[in-house]
Amino acid sequence: MAFGKYKEVMALKAKDAKVTGVAQDGGVVTSILCYALEQGVIDGALLAAKSDTPWLPKPVVATTKEEIIAAAGTKYTISPNMSAIKSAAREYALDKIAIVGTPCQIYAARKMQLYPFGARHIADKIALTVGIFCTENFSYAGLKTVIEDHCKVPIESVTKMEIGKGKFSVKGAKDVAIPIKETHKYEQDGCHVCSDLTAEFADISTGSIGTPDGWSTCFTRTTKGSDLMKKALAAGLFEKKEMAEFAAPMGLAMLEKLETGKKDKAKKTVADRTALGLFTTPGIVY
Ligand code: SF4
Repeated sequence: MAFGKYKEVMALKAKDAKVTGVAQDGGVVTSILCYALEQGVIDGALLAAKSDTPWLPKPVVATTKEEIIAAAGTKYTISPNMSAIKSAAREYALDKIAIVGTPCQIYAARKMQLYPFGARHIADKIALTVGIFCTENFSYAGLKTVIEDHCKVPIESVTKMEIGKGKFSVKGAKDVAIPIKETHKYEQDGCHVCSDLTAEFADISTGSIGTPDGWSTCFTRTTKGSDLMKKALAAGLFEKKEMAEFAAPMGLAMLEKLETGKKDKAKKTVADRTALGLFTTPGIVY
């Protein structure tokens, strides 16, 4: 299966207006974290929040609903969220930590759980992992170049950015969309050997690919993720649709096409680098 193992897949849209007003798409991450906090499943979360520099995220430990909501929205440059885990465990004294991250950050969390070298008494505090679909990511300098040199708008004027339908688009003082292929040279090098789009090792993974604007595609992958989502649905947190309701080119067909494309590209890059005698990390997913 292109998207790894999962229990359920569905299209979701949060009902809480406080969440939908700030969320990137369907508000799944923000809503499920707020619910998990309310239910005592977690007592805090590692998130990418806004910093003083426009669109440069910083990792934060959020322990209230307000802090979770304030960190909503996708950022297109990496926020080293895992770096805050020691602080969450030691300074904030959290026992049940949620980690929100890209698929590669979810690997880091799982590796830490499997082999907690240097992370004893920290990895066992990971209570929930929420993965965000990721096709690629940019360094901050690369992102700034894409926005200021290609979209031709000042980065501080941007209120939202999106990748979808073959475009990189910014909204704000001026709405601009450029072909995604113009941005490829600014991607982080490691992203070219990354074969996981849908966060295959998370408890819950979600993103906009496959669903219309305002909705998110959501996989539950573990018993923990599935149980939490079932309770959240029963509590009326989300509007829900079956993925089959979205005909091609939307729906799982679109997601499968992009996921397969990402895996194939990663395999080819690894083969090309190996042929040149360059170091490559062995693929985990492929
Ligand atoms: S493409 Fe892969 S390596 Fe790059 S940020 Fe996304 S998950 Fe991480």
